[in-house]
Order: sequence, then C-alpha cells, then structure tokens
Amino acid sequence: MARVEIHAIEAAGARIAGAVRRTPVERSASLSALAGVPIHLKLEHQQITGAFKLRGATNAILSLSAAEKARGVVAASTGNHGRALAYAAAAAGIRCVVCMSALVPENKLAAIRALGAETRIVGRSQDDAQVEVDRLVADEGLAGIPPFDHPAVIAGQGTLGLEILADVPDSQCVLIPLSGGGLIAGIAAAIKAKNPSVRVVGVSMARGAAMQASLAAGRPVAVEELPTLADSLGGGIGLSNRWTFDMVRAFVDEVVLLSEAEIAAGIRHAYAEEREIVEGGGAVGIAALLAGKVRPSGPTVALLSGRNIAMDLHRRIISGADGLEAT
Ligand SMILES: *Cc1c(COP(=O)(O)O)cnc(C)c1O
Repeated sequence: MARVEIHAIEAAGARIAGAVRRTPVERSASLSALAGVPIHLKLEHQQITGAFKLRGATNAILSLSAAEKARGVVAASTGNHGRALAYAAAAAGIRCVVCMSALVPENKLAAIRALGAETRIVGRSQDDAQVEVDRLVADEGLAGIPPFDHPAVIAGQGTLGLEILADVPDSQCVLIPLSGGGLIAGIAAAIKAKNPSVRVVGVSMARGAAMQASLAAGRPVAVEELPTLADSLGGGIGLSNRWTFDMVRAFVDEVVLLSEAEIAAGIRHAYAEEREIVEGGGAVGIAALLAGKVRPSGPTVALLSGRNIAMDLHRRIISGADGLEAT
C-alpha cells in the first residue's frame, strides 16, 4: 500500500518554507495544571488563511509541473481548503477555480473571490460541484487538488509533525483534529518515523465521525452528515479513499469522540484561558483534555488547527448564551 514517507514530508517543509507561517508553540498554564503534565498548544490557527490547510495546498501547487501550473488548479471546497487553495494559487501566480453549489452562502463566495479565485456555481449539492471539478480536470486539464486524499497535501500537513518534534522534543502524546485524515496522516507519518513511541491521538466530533466509523468497519464507509460546532470536521473520507484511511490505520494510536457540549467548552476555554479565537474543529484537542477523554502521562501537544468561526456563533458560545451545551 502506498504511503507518504518521511523524505516527502521533509521535502515539503523545504518547499513551503517561504510561503507559510512557522506557527508558534506555547505552554498552557491552565491545561498543564489540570492535566498534571506539561501541555503545549501548537497555534496553527494563526496560519495565513486561518487554518493549516495552506500547508498542503501550497505543497501540492508547488509540486506541479510547469505545464500543469500553466493550466491551473480546481477544487470543490468552500471551507478552509478552498480558501487555502485560492490563496496558494494567487501566491504562485496560477489560475484557481473553486466549484460550489448554489446553496453556498454569499459571504463564503465573496471570501473565495476576494482571494483571487474564479468561482463556478453548479447544482444544489457538493456532489454536483464535484461533477464540475471532474469535468474541468477532463476537459480543460486543470489539476484537481482534493482537501485530504492526495500525497502532496498529506506531506504538506505532515510538516506540522516535524515542527512539533523540533519545538517540543520531549513530546509523549499529540492530539490532532481528525476528519478526512490528511492532517493526522501526515503528522503521524512524520512523528512515527522520528520517534515511534510518541502517542498520536485523533479527535473528532461524535456526530458523523467518518474515519472512526471506517476504522471500526475495516473499510471506508459513509456516515450521515449532521450539523456540528466542529463544521470543518464534517464530511466523509471517500468510499474510494486511497491514502489517508490506510495511513491512519497504520499510524494513529487512538481516536476519541466528543459531544457538542464538550466542543463548546473547548472553544470557551481557548478564549477565556488562552486568549485565542479557535473554531470548533480547532478546539477539539483542548476539549478532549478538559473532558478527561485523554489522560496524558507526559508532555503533550494539542494542535489548534483553525480559527475560521463565524463571530456571532463564537460570541454566543463564549457567553454560554443559547443552550449549545445541550445540543
Ligand atoms: C480540514 C480541517 C481539519 C481536518 O483535517 P483532515 O485532514 O480532513 O482530517 C481540522 N481542523 C480544521 C480547522 C480544518 O479545516
């Protein structure tokens, strides 16, 4: 089975170094006191575009041939991957098309356009948008860059594993948000190659955890997609998954699942105690520690993966206003 190797992740680190931020790691006094071991936060939500996906998108774009660069890239994501791809394409001076359904809110459309990407509105669902991506790949020769199941994307995200080990060399455990698995597959491949004794824990929301369901089934399976505060962790892993399912199964030690109330508590803690604005998907590592679902016995790093949360939602969560604890 093909896997992304450490040399590809190290090469990605060199390739993207001038184009992405090397985000800081900070020790959390409050979480360290709570856990009784040093807890560090990798502040990747401070990445340009507000999420780690810039690493994978940049590595994928910079890995294209000159002929591919001349034709451009395409994707169907309007979330953090779409933003990242639009930004990385503009930085590299290449064409980027983002396909989306007519149901995508106007503010997301405007944000992608503001980053310099072309937008195509097609159909009423993500699947319709993906059909247009496939057409542009076939008819116009654009390079389709998916959000997680792609070796250059995984290698780009894996550069976070190298930075975590460099900045916290005595790490015994890392807590990584998990959806399609590009982030944790890259990080786990890097960390296990350097120090196999480090425990790699994936954290997902209980509502619609596709990777966890697939691991349990022994093959990629579809799950019902439900609304969640960790919206960037929604969606499936792809029934014909080629890379991340196998890598997660090989390298990830454990997956823990969180309730909506636990995720809300993570967002609230990030703001009140760490003074950081973090989206639901970015707060799950903190949330897992607060909930006692991970009890580390040595120095631990929780990755804060993104900060792109609607500010009115954030305001309601931090004020504990509207019963989100109960959802
Ligand atoms: C995409 C995303 C994730 C999950 O990454 P995968 O590679 O799909 O597992 C986690 N947090 C944020 C903020 C994201 O945008």
